Amino acid sequence: MPELPEVAALAADLRERAVGRVIDRADVAEFSVLKTYDPPLTALRGARITGTARRGKFLDLIAEPPEGAQLHLVTHLARAGWLRWRDAMPDAPPKPGKGPLAFRLRFTDGSGFDLTEAGTRKRLAVYLTTDINQIPGVASLGPEPLDASFTPEVLAAILGGRRTQIKGVLRDQKLIAGIGNAYSDEVLHAAKMSPFRLASSLSPQEIADLHAVIVGTLREAIDRSDGLAASDLKKEKKAGLRVHGRAGEACPVCGDTVREVSFADSALQYCPTCQTGGKPLADRRMSRLLK
Ligand SMILES: [Zn+2]
Repeated sequence: MPELPEVAALAADLRERAVGRVIDRADVAEFSVLKTYDPPLTALRGARITGTARRGKFLDLIAEPPEGAQLHLVTHLARAGWLRWRDAMPDAPPKPGKGPLAFRLRFTDGSGFDLTEAGTRKRLAVYLTTDINQIPGVASLGPEPLDASFTPEVLAAILGGRRTQIKGVLRDQKLIAGIGNAYSDEVLHAAKMSPFRLASSLSPQEIADLHAVIVGTLREAIDRSDGLAASDLKKEKKAGLRVHGRAGEACPVCGDTVREVSFADSALQYCPTCQTGGKPLADRRMSRLLK
């Protein structure tokens, strides 16, 4: 799933390619991905792209129509969605079907991009709105971790009194925007902290350290993906991860074997030596099944 650094890179790549171009048409190939109906997609016709932005994991394409209010074409790529730029689009609108294509935007010069997601049940979401804060998932976002206003004190207020596991807090979009399953694993590994620590149990020093690691990890990932085209981002993300998705491999810090444990609706990866005093975490789901 693309998280803050990848969506930031997608926004930068799209800014480079799309600003100044004029929209010919926007079409859905899978109707369930379009979450708004007013304004309709036809409102984009003739609109000029003036910029791109990111909020949390949402990608915002800003368009000025010939008349009327500025439009925001907002995309959330969910778990498996992706954006593919194309220099030459077919003239005909896409046919709804079973393929990976979910949404297509075509500019008047024939270029454009596809939003794709493998599988029949698509989770990626597209919104067209005049006010990005009307999108419920955007309105409820927590603070942006790379904003100057995200201070250690702000993090302390988020964690304070919260008797839930730190892993869940880090990837909760309502508490902090843009961090998902991958970067929460990376942050906790870099902070040498157990993913199961209770948020409320962190000392002021641990909170200050965690804050520095959050900012540092995200900045590093953004620097790595800076200037990369959308097509190269996934490879770069995977190459930069130290523990996430690397169960069974050696920890690059200490050489111990990276382990995996179920967490919420998926799994997390961590290094026992770096993070949990050498002791593997109990897999609750597994032990429940064995009882
Ligand atoms: Zn380690």
